[in-house]
Amino acid sequence: MNISHLQCLKCGAQEPFNFDLNLCPRCGIGGEDDPSILDVHYHYDKAAIEFKASIEKQNGNSLARFLPLLPLKTFIDVLPTGNTSLVPAAQLGFDLGFKNLWLKDETRNPTRSLKDRATAVFVGMAVENGLPEVYCSSAGNAAISLAGYSALAGLKAQVFVPNNVSKTRLDWLNRYGANVHVSSGNYDQAFAESEEIGKTKGWYSRNCAYNPYLVEGKKTVAFEIAQQLNFDAPDVVMAPVGDGCTLAAIGKGFRELRQIGLIDRIPKLIGVQAARLNPLVSRFEGEALKLEQTKASSIAVRKPRNALRLARELQESKGMLVSVDDEEMLVAQKELAQKAGLIAEVTSAASLAALKKLANKFTGEERIVIVVTGGRTDEA
Ligand SMILES: *Cc1c(COP(=O)(O)O)cnc(C)c1O
Ligand SMILES: [Zn+2]
Repeated sequence: MNISHLQCLKCGAQEPFNFDLNLCPRCGIGGEDDPSILDVHYHYDKAAIEFKASIEKQNGNSLARFLPLLPLKTFIDVLPTGNTSLVPAAQLGFDLGFKNLWLKDETRNPTRSLKDRATAVFVGMAVENGLPEVYCSSAGNAAISLAGYSALAGLKAQVFVPNNVSKTRLDWLNRYGANVHVSSGNYDQAFAESEEIGKTKGWYSRNCAYNPYLVEGKKTVAFEIAQQLNFDAPDVVMAPVGDGCTLAAIGKGFRELRQIGLIDRIPKLIGVQAARLNPLVSRFEGEALKLEQTKASSIAVRKPRNALRLARELQESKGMLVSVDDEEMLVAQKELAQKAGLIAEVTSAASLAALKKLANKFTGEERIVIVVTGGRTDEA
């Protein structure tokens, strides 16, 4: 492994690598609002050589080709993760006035969402470190992902879901054989319950806000986008934002590629939230705070836990956050289907809705990638 150390996103303190260390021991829990999450750093000089060699060898299309920048000794493909299509969306781009628009189709992952990238790395860590029982809280995608991978890896999955979880989602969880805990409240309550019970029982946490290694899995989507564009980085990458881990991970992935010399600039990150539930847009862009119900269930997060990580990546990339109405997401969801053939969940259509909203801020020449994060259409 090429990990050099872990670093607290809050106080900057460094800690040696430890698979079981989640929050910064110096900050402790670090307060309700911004948990003192650790960030993984690597020996980048060494990783650069190995990473380039690995990419050149092709190493198949498995995420194993990115091993020099992952927190694993070996990469076991529990399920074939990633290697998703970067679809040129010519029709959609033309209609919106963009010459270069791509959709990174993460709905093609084994359990239908980008969450599988985090789970692939997480399950590897659980197996490598002998941790048989794992847990997470989730609006659906992370739980289903964990359930699916755990079934194949022989791990016991404990999943905590909000009370409004759909029948279809429960059905997926049960088919995979997970132990399902339905909370009496929303996602934020399910999250609190999972951390309380999980810690008491000594299970291994797949909650992104605690486990620093999940972002390492999610960042592989940036590695892939860059590779698919022959390491000519796009100008803009867009994704929906709940806790903030996904977009921050995308930012980290591009930053690391720049650091090891594979790309020469990083894209501007644009994160999207629901106008009805916009804690991060409110915090970083000054929009009036709204904490209402939204159809975008995968980003229905009232207390985002990775804001510090996201803040740093937004700053590094000169990025921004925007909000869109549920109605705009529903229109965008239809357009993705009818103009790009892609069935996305409401949450994942938020990015296209945002691009339409921001269209007059662009020249039309920019190279833009929309990360279509998931395809589970049974949102509440
Ligand atoms: C989890 C999820 C997101 C947002 O990810 P965060 O890391 O919570 O910001 C976006 N889209 C889909 C489909 C998701 O499942
Ligand atoms: Zn700290």
